[in-house]
Amino acid sequence: MEGAYPGALSFCLPKPVLSAIVAPIMVNHMRHTRAHTANRRSHHALKTPMLAVCSNCGAMHKPHHMCLECGFYKGRQVMDLKAQKDKRDARMQAKKEAVRAQMSAVNAPAPEAPAVEEKK
Ligand SMILES: [Zn+2]
Repeated sequence: MEGAYPGALSFCLPKPVLSAIVAPIMVNHMRHTRAHTANRRSHHALKTPMLAVCSNCGAMHKPHHMCLECGFYKGRQVMDLKAQKDKRDARMQAKKEAVRAQMSAVNAPAPEAPAVEEKK
């Protein structure tokens, strides 16, 4: 609150009354010239990412990071990405088959219900 409104008004009036009086006067006239905007944006250019070559597979990867292609870092395997991929593929395959089986069960014609005789 302090510093939001000029002078001693901020001490003697409640905020809604003060806003009604002061707000129409206070217009933000901060004009930015094209040069000002361009100067500010001169630092916004994207830089090309630094990349290193994997010693194991030759793929490009971020320096000081594990290779995302083979899971090697500093010449040794830190993560078995192939095993993880195989595991994920097997899981997805099982899921697809489960969904397919469920869909075929839904679409198949229902077995005929045993005839129920009406009670009299
Ligand atoms: Zn690699």
